[in-house]
Amino acid sequence: MEEKSKVKHHRNKILIVLATIFIFSLPASCGNNNGSVSQTESAFLTNESKSAASPTQSVITEPESATPNIATESKFPEETKPQGQIEDESHSSGEMQVHFLDVGQGLSIFIQSEGQYLIYDGGDRKTSSFVVSYLKKHGVSQIDYLICSHYDSDHMAGLIGCLNAFDVKTVINSDYEHDSKLYDSFMSAVADNGLTVQHPEVGSEFVFGSGKFTVLSPSKIVADSNANSVAIKLVNGNNSFIFTGDADHKSESAMCTSGIDLDCDVLSLGHHGSATSTSYAFLEKTVPAFAVISCGAENLYGHPHKDTLEKLESMEINIFRSDKQGTVIATSNGKKIVWSTNPCNDYSPGEESDLGTQLQGDPPVQSESSSTESRAESSGTVVYITDTGSKYHNSGCRHLKKSKIEISLSDAKSQGYDPCGTCKP
Ligand SMILES: [Zn+2]
Ligand SMILES: [Zn+2]
Repeated sequence: MEEKSKVKHHRNKILIVLATIFIFSLPASCGNNNGSVSQTESAFLTNESKSAASPTQSVITEPESATPNIATESKFPEETKPQGQIEDESHSSGEMQVHFLDVGQGLSIFIQSEGQYLIYDGGDRKTSSFVVSYLKKHGVSQIDYLICSHYDSDHMAGLIGCLNAFDVKTVINSDYEHDSKLYDSFMSAVADNGLTVQHPEVGSEFVFGSGKFTVLSPSKIVADSNANSVAIKLVNGNNSFIFTGDADHKSESAMCTSGIDLDCDVLSLGHHGSATSTSYAFLEKTVPAFAVISCGAENLYGHPHKDTLEKLESMEINIFRSDKQGTVIATSNGKKIVWSTNPCNDYSPGEESDLGTQLQGDPPVQSESSSTESRAESSGTVVYITDTGSKYHNSGCRHLKKSKIEISLSDAKSQGYDPCGTCKP
């Protein structure tokens, strides 16, 4: 029951946050390759009240009434801004644009600020040339930071294109090896640029443009490729973004105990909205006003999963989805974030038949001692799947050598996995 009341408290916290509202409208500040971009620009302000005593971390504004936006209007009743949340001019900083590229089933985030460029993942092979041409279109000739979250092709392939096309200054990735031709190509492209890869420790900070980023993960290297994802928190003034690659709930709980402030405005959801990521504990720490889900339309994995979407909806987190909205751009001036389009807030799972595993819209009830355990662990038998396979396995199965992802038996079945013939789970 403890967990439930915590979540309720958290909802209250979010409601308090959402209750502080403005009417605001700004012109489009950047181009967008998505034909369905709304005329209305929603601006989202944040302040820097981060103390435990203050429940407020984000102030969300509505579009001007002349150009109403139904999705946000119905969600956020109009109230006045409380005192103490006046923007502090001393915290103003330069502009930072965060582009969540539509790379189908994959991830690629491109950031520009004050003439510096950062790319976090590059999407799969199919969209590699799109990523390279997108960057060229935005005037990129040099990439200051190229971050490869982990070595699965849907994150790494496009980065090889970037290494070949641009003058890359710093490469950051995870300190493990991957048995794939693509990994070999990536590492030789790094070497061809005369670069060595950096594996910064959790807590390392890097100055970037008008802001900085901090490494959140991985705190250790494990057998599962996804769990080794390099996660970062990008900060520009009072605005912040967290990108977690395909980090699973175990990596998330390690981030939660790292002591680093995970509070953010925008969370790029782990593993394309899979139920193996985005634990309640992580959402409670990050308290994002917005989540961005990068996944392909009708992808093979049913991403994003129902469980994840239910959590986001129950916590009233606005969502953007690449499968529904294409590329989405967030522009931060250090005080507010302006989006190229409104959140779609479409909480329907990638697969219609995905029934999820949670009780009727309620968060799972866990005892206090197990509150940091995964949802999978709390909902019965646990089995293991791999990044690419279609079977589920017992823990010791030899097929789990390269990749081992924990999942509940019911999730595995509902996601279409079959029992392995070797270990017969
Ligand atoms: Zn992966
Ligand atoms: Zn992935």
